[in-house]
Amino acid sequence: MLTNAPKGTKDVLPSQVYKWHYVERAFADICETYGFKEIRTPVFEHTELFSRGVGDTTDIVQKEMYTFQDYAKRSITLKPEGTSPVARAFVEHKAYADVQPAKYYYNTPCFRYEKPQSGRLRAFHQFGIEVFGTNNMIADAEVICLANDFLHGLGITNIELQINSVGCPECRKAHREALRDFLRPKYEELCGTCKDRFERNPLRIMDCKSEICQELVKGAPLMIDFLCDDCKAAFEDVQNNLKHMGVEFVVNPGIVRGLDYYTKTAFEFVTTSIGAQGTVCGGGRYDHLMEELGGPPIPGVGFGLGIERLLLTMEANGIEIPEPETADVFVAVMGDEAKAFGLKLLHQLRQAGVRAEMDAMARNIKGQFKYANRIGAKKTVVIGDNELAEKKVAIKDMATSQQTEVSMDDILKELTK
Ligand code: ATP
Ligand code: MG
Repeated sequence: MLTNAPKGTKDVLPSQVYKWHYVERAFADICETYGFKEIRTPVFEHTELFSRGVGDTTDIVQKEMYTFQDYAKRSITLKPEGTSPVARAFVEHKAYADVQPAKYYYNTPCFRYEKPQSGRLRAFHQFGIEVFGTNNMIADAEVICLANDFLHGLGITNIELQINSVGCPECRKAHREALRDFLRPKYEELCGTCKDRFERNPLRIMDCKSEICQELVKGAPLMIDFLCDDCKAAFEDVQNNLKHMGVEFVVNPGIVRGLDYYTKTAFEFVTTSIGAQGTVCGGGRYDHLMEELGGPPIPGVGFGLGIERLLLTMEANGIEIPEPETADVFVAVMGDEAKAFGLKLLHQLRQAGVRAEMDAMARNIKGQFKYANRIGAKKTVVIGDNELAEKKVAIKDMATSQQTEVSMDDILKELTK
């Protein structure tokens, strides 16, 4: 059907878009306050960027990407996430030669072939930030603190910050072996995908959405107990930094995160108020991503935050976003001469930045007033033959119905004050 959008997509209608503007402005404002600059990257990239960047043992790369061949037979993928493209742009434009750390934020559409549910779409949107070029846990704390301030600043209260460390390739080796030892007797019961993960990347099994696998990993050895001295110190460091900044958190050793190249800090902001898809924001450190993409060994830390889930959470919190008024002044006209005068006035008002409207449906005067009410006009100016003859117009305050007479020469001044 031509008039049905594809499954898992959602239109943002004009009657709802003010909510998007509101959170988009709030996000840009807080990012600028924290010294981040916006970056915009294309909607599609070479497929390889994501298979390398996100990691080919992840759900995203294994079964969620929108991948196609273009006419020159290149494999192209619609952005499933925001970090790899930003890392690619950072390397491509040699931004590592600029002052470090580099701090970016973005607002991007993302595409993943998933089973659509509330808070889970095929075309959705993410806010995100990335800090490149520093190993210092101040950066990790700053990234987490920004997300925390943003969410609380919007009035969201029932949300929990959970943090963990996923270690580094060195300490992960011992954990991986312990995890395999633990899961080996249960191997046959694992889902097909996890059987594959068992060899390639058993840590991913912890993040499997299958209930059977979730049950099987209960009591599994935790990464947090295998951290090397360096990773352990980093985890303490980030926690101390968060405490200094007054950010409340809990340690959840179960957090694994979606990307393969995450190292050390991993975190999620989780709410119980929007059902199963409760992770509004997820992020962490990825010290080997840039190398994996063929760039210099530059560390990074950041997060992705789902805008649709954010709006659902705000709604569940009963947060009302102020709806902007659509019109300041309605110019009601009767007769051709009045229309000519009205059009001129309409244009002058708009040039002065006043949200002015006039009828474009050939309504009679009663219909024009009705329309003015429907679009929420605060004032209506009435212009007819009498008014033109007497060089005076009446300005009606739509809320109080009070009328003020002004001379034609003063009308613009009166309406723009
Ligand atoms: P989940 O475990 O819910 O699948 P994820 O780990 O795949 O999430 P990330 O890759 O970390 O999610 O993406 C960051 C954020 O983007 C998520 O926390 C969520 O708010 C949002 N998000 C992810 N996938 C979707 C989707 N299909 N529809 C809507 N929002 C999404
Ligand atoms: Mg997912």
